[in-house]
Amino acid sequence: MSDKSFPVPSRAERRRAARCKPVNRQQLLLRSVDVEKLVEEDHCVRAIWELVDRADLETFYETIEAVEGEAGCSAWDPRVLISLWIYAYSRAVSSAREISRRCEYDPAYQWLTGLEVINHHTLSDFRVQHEEALDELFIQVLGVLSHEGLVTLERVMHDGVKIEAGASDKSFRRQGTLERHLESAREVVEKMKEADSEEVSERVVKARERAVRERKERLEAALRELKHMQAAQSDPQKRQKARVSTTDPEARIMQQPGGGFAPSYNVQISTDAQATVIVGLGVSQAANDTGELVPAMERVEGNLGEVPQQVVVDGGFINQGTIMAMEAQGMDLMGPMPDHASQTVAALEKRGVAPEFFPQAFRYDAERNCYVCPAGRDLAFESQEKSEGSARYRYRAKLSECQSCASKGQCCPQSQRRSLVRSEEPPEVRRHREKMASESAQEIYKQRSQIAEFPNAWIKEKFGLRKFRLRGLIKVRIEALWACLTYNICQWIRLCWRPKEAVRVGN
Ligand code: SF4
Repeated sequence: MSDKSFPVPSRAERRRAARCKPVNRQQLLLRSVDVEKLVEEDHCVRAIWELVDRADLETFYETIEAVEGEAGCSAWDPRVLISLWIYAYSRAVSSAREISRRCEYDPAYQWLTGLEVINHHTLSDFRVQHEEALDELFIQVLGVLSHEGLVTLERVMHDGVKIEAGASDKSFRRQGTLERHLESAREVVEKMKEADSEEVSERVVKARERAVRERKERLEAALRELKHMQAAQSDPQKRQKARVSTTDPEARIMQQPGGGFAPSYNVQISTDAQATVIVGLGVSQAANDTGELVPAMERVEGNLGEVPQQVVVDGGFINQGTIMAMEAQGMDLMGPMPDHASQTVAALEKRGVAPEFFPQAFRYDAERNCYVCPAGRDLAFESQEKSEGSARYRYRAKLSECQSCASKGQCCPQSQRRSLVRSEEPPEVRRHREKMASESAQEIYKQRSQIAEFPNAWIKEKFGLRKFRLRGLIKVRIEALWACLTYNICQWIRLCWRPKEAVRVGN
């Protein structure tokens, strides 16, 4: 055969002659869908449904107004709504609109709803309307996890995590600005009552009125919250400088773990070390964790009926009051004592005090209850302060003696005269200090960050809860509760449901 009888087509000719499948977008198709087969046998949405279906949801059902034999639309089954929210959180979806959209095309959402689309208003209302019932469900899931041996309360790691509020730091205002804005909002409301415009429709007028009224209500709430803050603040300067957000008055400016400050809430999570299960959750407005451990353990007791045998926390939670409270309740507290000595040295150095005039250079005379300074002068007892179960005694030198002392520049360069504080350490604190110096306590403490910070990181990174969608302390707690419930259910799926499912399918 020769090339002359079979000419080879050029690339351009081949391209012109190529035949492809046409796309017909004008056709109408009717398809049958086997809803049960939309998701595989071992899909986690089936596990969520199974667990929710087993739970006693009586409190959720109590609020449903639609009843058999009466007119009106049927309500959505709480089992479907709960499962939808839990599955959505596990996939880092926390928007009701997004869930509603996914009901249209995502097989897992369609399996849950039976191919129905649920309105986003229904979903968002359901998320916030059942705080008590959601708490009950959280406890029931803990009961299932305890039954499986995943919760023992032998060792609980507790930690706090700052999660950003849904408010900008630019929305924070001081009292004067808030009062001015509120005054102008009230004026606008009054003017709107008088206005009789025929240029705009009634619907537009109503929308405008609602917007102005809501702004006025937000400002009033912000002013109320500011008054609370000011009442709790003893420092007059800080009281004057207090600011609140006009969009989320209950949020507080807090230091972030990565540095910087942002409007946030302090989420407190207690984690059982047996299988990293969350056994307690709280949300507070406190900028630090100092007073958070005692209420956290009360919450754990409320959820499981008993307190943990051992609690491990970082130094931010440790103070005399907490040590004494934990010991009184029979809990073995593990956590490093704050290094007050180094803090005191740092503070003294900052004030320009020379090392030879540090507190150890002053001799305490117990008989006369006074200190004797390096220059041989007495610092007499002045007052006693009570703080968190410990007694603090203040001693002060005479003004005339310090003013005429040759060592004043090294001893008290920034104050008129020198003072000292003597603390009496309660036996509980001494015992705690000795315990934490042991090797075994250090070994236990080393496990803290890995266990305690795991659920915090999971909730932030996997569930995407780096910023709250909801506003206000109550709603923010509900949002955190959904995330913690989802986390525990994911642990149950991983440690209980999947292994059993694998055995079942294998058989
Ligand atoms: S400044 Fe006052 S307290 Fe300090 S060494 Fe002199 S007298 Fe003593």
